[in-house]
Amino acid sequence: GCESSLSITVVGASGDLAKKKIFPALFALYYEDCLPKHFTIYGYARSKMTDAELRIMVSKTLTCRIDKRENCGEKMDQFLKRCFYYSGHYDSQDNFAELDKKMKEHEGGRISNRLFYLSVPPNIFVDAVRCASLTASSGNGWTRVIVEKPFGRDSESSAALTKDLKQFLSEDQIFRIDHYLGKELVENLSVLRFSNLIFEPLWSRQYIRNVQLIFSEDFGTEGRGGYFDNYGIIRDIMQNHLLQILALFAMETPVSLDAEDIRNEKVKVVRSMRPIQLDDVVIGQYKSHKKGGVTYPAYTDDMTVPKDSLTPTFAAAALFIDNARWDGVPFLMKAGKALHNKSAEIRVQFRHVPGNLYNRNFGTDLDRATNELVIRVQPDEAVYLKINNKVPGLGMRLDRSNLNLHYAARYSKEIPDAYERLLLDAIEGERRLFIRSDELDAAWAIFTPVLKELEEKQIIPEYYPYGSRGPVGAHYLAARYNVRWGDLSLEQ
Ligand code: NAP
Repeated sequence: GCESSLSITVVGASGDLAKKKIFPALFALYYEDCLPKHFTIYGYARSKMTDAELRIMVSKTLTCRIDKRENCGEKMDQFLKRCFYYSGHYDSQDNFAELDKKMKEHEGGRISNRLFYLSVPPNIFVDAVRCASLTASSGNGWTRVIVEKPFGRDSESSAALTKDLKQFLSEDQIFRIDHYLGKELVENLSVLRFSNLIFEPLWSRQYIRNVQLIFSEDFGTEGRGGYFDNYGIIRDIMQNHLLQILALFAMETPVSLDAEDIRNEKVKVVRSMRPIQLDDVVIGQYKSHKKGGVTYPAYTDDMTVPKDSLTPTFAAAALFIDNARWDGVPFLMKAGKALHNKSAEIRVQFRHVPGNLYNRNFGTDLDRATNELVIRVQPDEAVYLKINNKVPGLGMRLDRSNLNLHYAARYSKEIPDAYERLLLDAIEGERRLFIRSDELDAAWAIFTPVLKELEEKQIIPEYYPYGSRGPVGAHYLAARYNVRWGDLSLEQ
């Protein structure tokens, strides 16, 4: 018949990301009835495994949503029956041709749509794409490829990767994933801006003093530093995740919600940004720290990291957008591993109220009266606005309060993992949340010069204790632009 079938191949199925994120997300989509009737999932990697062994491996990581526990076990069994494994090399057209044969058996003559998820180290991307596209792409339906970061390590290597991929795929077949774009609160950013009257009119240099994009992890590389050491925190977090959030935050209103309209605005704002100056960057690396009888390791204690590594595990940077809306407003980014907490948030600090009648109530520290909008991406999603309020009573005392949209309190639903949304979008051909190659080029253009300079000059990172708030240099950098990190209502 003319019904279509969907074959999803997880290339690198024996790996960490496949187990942790991709198979669980596919199961969640299955459970929510979001996959087409005729779908089959293939795991592909070099490791030897039988279908049964793959199913056991996958079954260990599947979970059901709290609110949907009934028939969960049954659903899992049905899902696992649709999962198959094929052991092959990433650079073998013959092996991919055999996978193609297997797919055809399951497709049973239907229109075949094929999605490949490249969950392998970057040096394998091009081989796998070449083999998949030459011998395992669909003859009568679509073929799409999801690619994971890193997309190169600077402008040149990124452009080379794009060029290599485009020998075998057209731009609209390539889905460059940045899982931050699949996060609920990042998606909500546009809703907040464009469907409320009260934010967008304030969204400019006229009312916003600075914007902060903060990412912190409370653990280090923990034995998985091999990949990280070649990239560092600026490439791993800032150039992609934080810059993507910044672009959505700062872009002009798109013509429509269509993928191309949104990506056109994102690329415009990123191209309006100045390349980062070395002076505007602070880098750090965590060192060993003893606390409560426990010794936390230094970055260079990780067996997979060279002892003399200068790779930053922390960085702070000031970025500027040279356009009419944002001229002079510092956008401060901060990202680090082995810090005191785990979080990702956007903080918007507004200007002081001109001629504020209540200034005297804030003493000498007018910053304490600043309105702040905080979008907490993770954990414990929330959007809150810090306002000044009168403390009830006869006197006139002012107090800071939060107008708080706390997701756990407002919505009892579990929030889907970012990978679920992104996989579903790729299946549906929705490209809004994936990175177009011109966006990627523009993103690298901002970071490449400073990354080169850091490496050529062998800049020594500022060492900070594991579990601390990071290097003090980050505070000096912010102070240079009259910015204080984080919550202004707290003593720092
Ligand atoms: P991984 O576990 O290191 O690798 C996935 C699979 O690739 C391995 O099971 C292995 O399968 C194969 N492989 C590994 N090294 C290889 C080599 N040198 N040559 C040939 N094959 C090799 O990677 P991952 O953590 O799952 O991540 C996959 C991709 O997602 C990477 O591009 C990574 O940067 C990206 N990513 C990962 C995460 C995460 O949380 N882990 C997050 C964001 C992005 P076989 O030996 O069986 O062939």
